Amino acid sequence: MNTSNKTNMPRFLLDWASAKNNGHAAPSLERASTTFLLKDPTACVLTLRHYNDIICDLQDTAQSNTGTALHDSVLSFAKERGYMIEQSLAKSVMVDMHDVVITGQIDAYDPITGTLADLKFSKLANYDKQKSLADDEWFNQLSVYVWLLENVRPKWYFGVNNIINLVNIRDLSKVKEAKAGNSTDQWRLIEWDVDKVKANIPTAVEKALNTFSRILQLSETPDEELPICSEKYRYAESVYKIYKKGLKKAERGHASYETAEQAMDGFNKAGFDKDKYEIVAVGGESLKCKYYCELKDFCPHYKKMMEANNG
Ligand code: SF4
Repeated sequence: MNTSNKTNMPRFLLDWASAKNNGHAAPSLERASTTFLLKDPTACVLTLRHYNDIICDLQDTAQSNTGTALHDSVLSFAKERGYMIEQSLAKSVMVDMHDVVITGQIDAYDPITGTLADLKFSKLANYDKQKSLADDEWFNQLSVYVWLLENVRPKWYFGVNNIINLVNIRDLSKVKEAKAGNSTDQWRLIEWDVDKVKANIPTAVEKALNTFSRILQLSETPDEELPICSEKYRYAESVYKIYKKGLKKAERGHASYETAEQAMDGFNKAGFDKDKYEIVAVGGESLKCKYYCELKDFCPHYKKMMEANNG
């Protein structure tokens, strides 16, 4: 993976970002991480083919490492105190006659309480989606981790009694949330129902293995003929925003009409008149392709989208 320096930052920062980007092990067909297998198969195939040519800008590397630095600091402190353990797990499985090792990096496990914890740095809208299961990525990831734990059974493992996501909100505006009567907490805790996470193991593992199977099926397909990533993966699904009628400024988006309605019911401003507001579905644009996807230089669908926009 290469590093660009579009904003002409000092050389020491570029050296640091390059070292960070080169420090990640490239994914392979022999060893695949849980987070890799929860991506869209087309994105996985493009990553496998073009990993060494992917360019990540220093600005993006710095942004993602801000979360990583806090993550590492919190966990190393916890580890020193001896009540949490960070651990890599790996299990070998056969998919379509192909032997692959599925890996998972467990952020923290507290052997005293049997708590499995995964730290996240997330935008508020994504936290809302994951918590309400409008997006099941975190839920599936935890199910695969429990599956790995129960299969590998390390010496320090005494079972899972609690499963949590500890989430640091990256884009929290305390003023805006306070005005809306919402929580202004920077750190949020999602306490998952352990039985539900365990009951979801077959679905989550099947999803990961199906992705691997699809990667194998697509291995001979030229880039130009790869299917487009799902709407969900491209962030192309509609979000539902609450507008004051006649005004353009909206409250933040909700994953469904129902959750937007619930949020509106929860407004408790003095003199609030529900009839003056409306819920509008917006979106449909592939935001990930346009702004975030590091694979866009190799993706035929991104090229088509740009041609359609310019044409
Ligand atoms: S640019 Fe869009 S369609 Fe292409 S790999 Fe990225 S997310 Fe998928």
